[in-house]
Amino acid sequence: MNTQIAENLEQVSSRINAAEKAAGRISGIVQLIAVSKTRSTIEVRNAVTAGAHHIGENYLQEALDKQAALTDIDIIWHFIGPIQSNKTHTIANHFDWVHSIDRLKIARRLNDQRDADKTPINVCIQVNISNEETKSGISLNELPGLAAQINELPNLNLRGLMAIPAPEQSAAALSADFARMQHSLDELNQSGLTLDTLSMGMSGDIEMAIAAGSTMVRVGTAIFGPRNKPQA
Ligand SMILES: *Cc1c(COP(=O)(O)O)cnc(C)c1O
Repeated sequence: MNTQIAENLEQVSSRINAAEKAAGRISGIVQLIAVSKTRSTIEVRNAVTAGAHHIGENYLQEALDKQAALTDIDIIWHFIGPIQSNKTHTIANHFDWVHSIDRLKIARRLNDQRDADKTPINVCIQVNISNEETKSGISLNELPGLAAQINELPNLNLRGLMAIPAPEQSAAALSADFARMQHSLDELNQSGLTLDTLSMGMSGDIEMAIAAGSTMVRVGTAIFGPRNKPQA
């Protein structure tokens, strides 16, 4: 058992608890997703043994390999990476959550390809909150339309919004991005949706994201240490 991962996990949990308290949020409202891209199956197993329950993966084949080796433990799997349309069938049936939907075509395919005997898959719409030209995510202008359409798909359970803000910005700009996410979620709920999830906050900005209303933080480096090179 790797004690470093257990220690790191405990530190991250303390940061989350302290941030909830500082922001006047309900204790335990923020779910931790341990992001294990490029990490080995053993590292994931260590994290789960140390108390992680939600695991986030970006690359499908890498995730499938780990899932096959970890069938003996109880894990809630989150897909958080870019989605190619030829991968939707596998993603729809190997994950409990998908955070990175940013177009209707992908949403429809996931809906149509989710096995009929499974409960609807939990999904978030990825928002390009910092308006980066090359980044995944839908713009805020297009969000209400896409959310309304995804909300009609029976095999998807639209839970909320996800964002990866531009990393190289000031604390003030980052905080404004997070605030816009909360505001957008509120607006969707005022328009009649019932969304409960804001997936935002990573190793470096857990506290700021929780202060702004995050309900799921996706944390890699602070749990597993500096990342190895991605697999080809
Ligand atoms: C890698 C990754 C994370 C975790 O980032 P860290 O800075 O290592 O905590 C979170 N979300 C997504 C989408 C990622 O790709």
